Amino acid sequence: MSVVQNNSEKNKWYLVGILGGMGITMRHLLKNLFNKKQMETLNYPEEKYEYSPRFKGNHVLTVKKDGALRCTACMLCATNCPAECIKITAAEHSDPRVEKYPISYEIDILRCVFCGFCEEACPVDAIRMGPEWQTPGVNGTNFIYDINKLAYRPNLKGGIQTHVDDEERHKSGI
Ligand code: SF4
Ligand code: SF4
Repeated sequence: MSVVQNNSEKNKWYLVGILGGMGITMRHLLKNLFNKKQMETLNYPEEKYEYSPRFKGNHVLTVKKDGALRCTACMLCATNCPAECIKITAAEHSDPRVEKYPISYEIDILRCVFCGFCEEACPVDAIRMGPEWQTPGVNGTNFIYDINKLAYRPNLKGGIQTHVDDEERHKSGI
């Protein structure tokens, strides 16, 4: 890397630059004070930006009609995840019609890049990315999202029901 120094007489008078910068700041301050509707910033957290409903924010694990997780622990999402932030532990289900289910499903949200590959890889609409985007936490453990957080957090009001229903699939022979 080469550094080019401009030692011209004009540049030695740095006060001109400082005053110019302060002038720009003052211009924006006055413009925003007297024309708040045109202000380009929001007073977060009182004001929040409205994203499109298609926004890929926090993950949701969908549930079946009976409220159980739709996930079949097939690992496709974890395999596809470029950040390797999904950890699933599969178990055999007591119901013979259900092959497997996750006894543990965790997403390390600090490593997630919100690419949506997990959602696209899932063959049974068991994981979706929703419009929630605020992810506050006081320490690292708050950013490991488990089944309770992913499927049954209060905002989901008991869980989001999947579009892919086993009973309907079996009836149609798939
Ligand atoms: S959104 Fe991307 S990075 Fe985040 S868990 Fe899904 S696949 Fe992984
Ligand atoms: S969320 Fe979907 S892709 Fe991931 S393990 Fe469950 S069923 Fe498979």
